[in-house]
Amino acid sequence: MLKLSRSHYDSLRQHGEETYPYECCGVLLGQMDGDIRTVTSIARCGNTRTDSPQNRYNIDPKEVIRIQREARVREEEIIGFYHSHPDHPAQWSQTDLADAHWLGSSYVITSVEKGKAVLTNAFELTGTDENDKKLVHEKIEVA
Ligand SMILES: [Zn+2]
Repeated sequence: MLKLSRSHYDSLRQHGEETYPYECCGVLLGQMDGDIRTVTSIARCGNTRTDSPQNRYNIDPKEVIRIQREARVREEEIIGFYHSHPDHPAQWSQTDLADAHWLGSSYVITSVEKGKAVLTNAFELTGTDENDKKLVHEKIEVA
């Protein structure tokens, strides 16, 4: 389960509206306790995909490392990632699965239709390695 506050939830959805018709992306920081991931902050990232930003996203690995380093100081860890799907359903694509490498993390996808955030879904990347990894639907709890 992914727990996040109303303001974090609104913020990541709003991010997708702001970058429409391109995908937004960012990192979810917080604490992991068994199956429960609790978001305590969100880091917005730039989408480095200039070739196809309307249906692809990429976060600069250097940016992820910087975010992780800064989060550790606040005793937070990376617990997930989010991005938007402009005019596409809030379901993961084969590319999303191929690009997902943080086992045990949440991958949040928001569909943005005509500039308006519609549905937000979360998926947990389960499995033991790259060969058997899967994105499994995860419950979102907005507190
Ligand atoms: Zn996607």
